[in-house]
Amino acid sequence: MHCDYCATPFLHPNFIQRSPEDVIAEIVHLNTRMNVLEFAFYDDALFTNKKHHIIPILKSIIKHKIQATFHTPNGLFARDIDLNLAQLMKESGFKTIRLSLESIIPELQKASTNKVSTHHFECALDNLESAGFQRKDIETYLIMGLPGQKYPDIEITLRYVFELGALSRLAAYTSIPHTASWDMAKMAGSVWDEMDPLLTNNTLYPCATADFPVEKFTKLRQLSNQLNANVKSET
Ligand code: SF4
Repeated sequence: MHCDYCATPFLHPNFIQRSPEDVIAEIVHLNTRMNVLEFAFYDDALFTNKKHHIIPILKSIIKHKIQATFHTPNGLFARDIDLNLAQLMKESGFKTIRLSLESIIPELQKASTNKVSTHHFECALDNLESAGFQRKDIETYLIMGLPGQKYPDIEITLRYVFELGALSRLAAYTSIPHTASWDMAKMAGSVWDEMDPLLTNNTLYPCATADFPVEKFTKLRQLSNQLNANVKSET
């Protein structure tokens, strides 16, 4: 993928997947020899080429009766989660599930390589729920602070996720050179080429503007916390 805000295509232009046999051998070794019980997959493209990659891995985890819990702390591609994959995730012991949505605004979805649409996102939630996961345990990454992004766009996306009964997780944008978003931020005067990278850190909200000041970012975090608390309190 080539998301406007991400430096991965610049840093790692080639997409490489380990063989399922290699991955499962490592999991079996760590689980049976080292007693590792918690595994995290830090790959948002974990389900890419799923027929030949994650599905054989999950079937093998089930076949080996591996007693462990699996976590996906990065935002998975929702469009790949059909009912079959959701059931395999449940059976193999997945617990932490985070999906990538970023925004429900079409221009922003386009900037995210159209890796997810609202339709795909809703289907993934339905499939995960049918497989036995609870919506209130599923977190959704939303991006906040991109150059040109508007406050109401983020608020309606937060409320959309809440209406679907899932949790939101706001990810503040960090400006990174060699990306389309960096060029946009540069044109807006928010960043410049010789800028100390520390000043681009997302905790400083480098793309805050007079119309979208830092206080409004804080307000969105508070709204996210409040909506998440409401979701969790529902029985
Ligand atoms: S899919 Fe993920 S890793 Fe790939 S470009 Fe987009 S944000 Fe970066």
